[in-house]
Amino acid sequence: MELLPGGGAAVRANRVWSQTVHAQYGGVMPELASREHVERIDDVLEGALADAGLALGDLHAVAATSGPGLVGALLVGLMYGKGLAQALGVPFYAAHHLEGHIFAAAAEAELDAPYLALVVSGGHTHLFDVLEPGDYRLVGATRDDAAGEAFDKVARLVGLGYPGGPAIGEAATRGDPDAVAFKPPLKGQSGFDFSFSGLKTAALLAHRAGAKPDDLAASFQQAAVRTLVETTVRAAQATGRQTVVVSGGVAANRALRAAFGQTGLRVVFPGPGLNTDNGAMIALSGAAAITAGRAPSPLSVGAEAYAPLATVPGT
Ligand code: ATP
Ligand code: FE
Repeated sequence: MELLPGGGAAVRANRVWSQTVHAQYGGVMPELASREHVERIDDVLEGALADAGLALGDLHAVAATSGPGLVGALLVGLMYGKGLAQALGVPFYAAHHLEGHIFAAAAEAELDAPYLALVVSGGHTHLFDVLEPGDYRLVGATRDDAAGEAFDKVARLVGLGYPGGPAIGEAATRGDPDAVAFKPPLKGQSGFDFSFSGLKTAALLAHRAGAKPDDLAASFQQAAVRTLVETTVRAAQATGRQTVVVSGGVAANRALRAAFGQTGLRVVFPGPGLNTDNGAMIALSGAAAITAGRAPSPLSVGAEAYAPLATVPGT
């Protein structure tokens, strides 16, 4: 990551090590995740430096995620980042995982806050009102499963493997989105929450009734995309926001991108390789902290499994 004179930041390298070991279990195994982090982190850093054409001594600051997430895996990156910063004598910035997802998209365009940010990932479906970078109000959130989790579970149900999001997106191109009727979740609500457990149950029933996997994938995807887009559009109307940032793994979904493109809102998505978890989004978060003049984090900062980015106003 390089800070640009105008105040922006440019990604110099983005090395990602995706752990394939979890596929056989159909989900992430926490203990295996931590061990793989320990084994791979040196190579990932060396590779990123090589891609960027930099040496360790060229770094001016280090950022690492402190939470939320699986504590064992977080600890590996956090301790490594803190150690690196201390050894190099440069400032350290602890990054919030969801803020990283938001900055991955925000880096794509000149954004004037306030704007809405929809984080749709494996563990979150959260809609924030971003008053300014660092100041977030929670507008709505899922009441049960995250969107990505629902994609993964429906994919497993119809035998498409893990991770399921990309597999559903691919199968959906061959299926009929109107073959299976899904009831819109939380129909008639006045708020801006999301729910995916009903879609999941409906998918299970349709599967048992013999729906074709491709049709089920296309129909589920259409229902999931509709509830995400419609709720976000209503929130934009209610808050008067005209710009929406959509980020997290599910933001890679082509149908979701196409549907947001039809809303008339200015919608900003992360660039290629920046939707699902990556290091560049954390570096972008660190760069934003530096640009905003935030103080570096104390080296006593710990990993946190649960770390809300914002609370509902008035609670
Ligand atoms: P969180 O950020 O909430 O802690 P995470 O870091 O595990 O969760 P991400 O890496 O941001 O999640 O995203 C992974 C999720 O995105 C998975 O559930 C995956 O199925 C989903 N996903 C990835 N690509 C697509 C796609 N093309 N369509 C739909 N879902 C997708
Ligand atoms: Fe994530």
